[in-house]
Amino acid sequence: MNISAKHHFRTYAPAPVTKEQIEHVEILFGGLHWRAEQVLQAVFANMGYNARPLPPAIKDDLLRGRELADIGQCCPTSFTTGNLANFLQGEADRMGASEVSDRYIHVTAGSCGACRFGQYHQSYELALRNIGLDSFRMFLIDQKQPEQGTSAGGGLDINMPLTVGAVWGILCTDVLQGLEYRTRPYEVQAGQTDAVVAECVAYLAEVFRTRPYRGRKWGTVAWHMSTGYFIKALREVFRKFEAIEVDRIRVKPIVKITGEFYLQTVEGDPNYNIHRWLESEGAEVYPAAIAVWLDYLIRCQLQKIEDYVGVEKGARAKLAALKGAQRLFRWSYNRMRAALGDIPFEMPDQYELRRLAAPYFHHRLSGGEGDMLVGKALWAHHKKKAHMICELSPYGCMPNTMSVGAMAGVTGKYPELLYAPIEVKGDAEVHALSRCQMILTEAKKRAIREFVEVMERTGLTPEEAKPLLEARSQMNRATYRIPHTGLAAGMAANTLLHLAGARPARQAP
Ligand code: SF4
Repeated sequence: MNISAKHHFRTYAPAPVTKEQIEHVEILFGGLHWRAEQVLQAVFANMGYNARPLPPAIKDDLLRGRELADIGQCCPTSFTTGNLANFLQGEADRMGASEVSDRYIHVTAGSCGACRFGQYHQSYELALRNIGLDSFRMFLIDQKQPEQGTSAGGGLDINMPLTVGAVWGILCTDVLQGLEYRTRPYEVQAGQTDAVVAECVAYLAEVFRTRPYRGRKWGTVAWHMSTGYFIKALREVFRKFEAIEVDRIRVKPIVKITGEFYLQTVEGDPNYNIHRWLESEGAEVYPAAIAVWLDYLIRCQLQKIEDYVGVEKGARAKLAALKGAQRLFRWSYNRMRAALGDIPFEMPDQYELRRLAAPYFHHRLSGGEGDMLVGKALWAHHKKKAHMICELSPYGCMPNTMSVGAMAGVTGKYPELLYAPIEVKGDAEVHALSRCQMILTEAKKRAIREFVEVMERTGLTPEEAKPLLEARSQMNRATYRIPHTGLAAGMAANTLLHLAGARPARQAP
């Protein structure tokens, strides 16, 4: 018997899905926060597909993922594997395995490189085989290729209008998330921000569902870049936020979330509901925009092309074209941010992040977020964007372990940087949150100290600020932008500085 032939490795290849079949198929996807998922569902609908996000991942999914696939895999892989398997198992119990394989397909992002991200689908395949769903079909979207053509069977077409629609959906929900997180901690009427956000997400989903068709290729890209269609929609979102009354004199530490892509993006059990937990502990959360990750992917691609300049014909032109695309991408994000009054968080410059991280983490080390984690922590610290960094590090993640190691060098040089690396195993919540709470206590003290210093500097107390704020009623609206002076990180301190007429400081290099 030829053992090597029998055990030869084979990569996963789904059975075809035809054009006739796709009309009766539901596309499952997941792995983002709920705002982006609802809008992506609408993007699929706009392209003629029936799609729905998987239910939010819960602790039981983690255990199921470990049980059905590889016990040593990183916790995001376990969560997503178990999430898919549990959902499909429930459906199979209801309608039978064969009906499930006919009725659903799964679409997921894929890549290659130094981490598990390139192998998620292999874990999914193993898990589904273990529950008798061998013939279930999964399709990979290569995150570096906006146009991949049709899948086997021709039923699913990953083309430019779908990809650009998905990217624009992400940008719109990123800025909405930014506005939401800058509002909720200060809302006067509890629950009002959540209600407005739910309304805005439903509204944006409708905007994407009815998005006009502007051709299959570059015409659609040009239209997305230049149209006022999405800007008008975001202005409507901004108008809805106008109703929210806020009290920005509440002193709160700002906690910047960084970490592995999945853990920092989702909001729920996979990260111990850290966003809501931090808010309930009195913090303002600075969430991780997906756009920053997309910008990083462009930077990685640019770094690769740079190697070929002077070696391969056309490399210089490719480099110039991609640099131009990156500029347009960032311009589009900023345009959407401006539609929301420039209140959502800005996108840091990738080259600045690389420069800041360079002494601690080489920019060519790929996998996970690479040098960006170190760069973002330093950027937030130097520019007074946050009082504390909370890094969500997945159990079993090699790239993240490296960045936590590199951060030891950073905190050695900058001991005043408040950094809480939280190892997320999925089932050690008390331990992780208690660790975070210790650093958060320091961050609270720092926010108070900063506020007191600003009171001394401006000669304004909260009692004196109140009538000033009442006299300028627009300042008590969620849509009023308090400029970030660079002199303080916190919202309350910046509000006093703004009332006192302080000008933005020159940023430290
Ligand atoms: S970055 Fe880490 S947690 Fe995320 S997929 Fe890669 S190995 Fe897993």
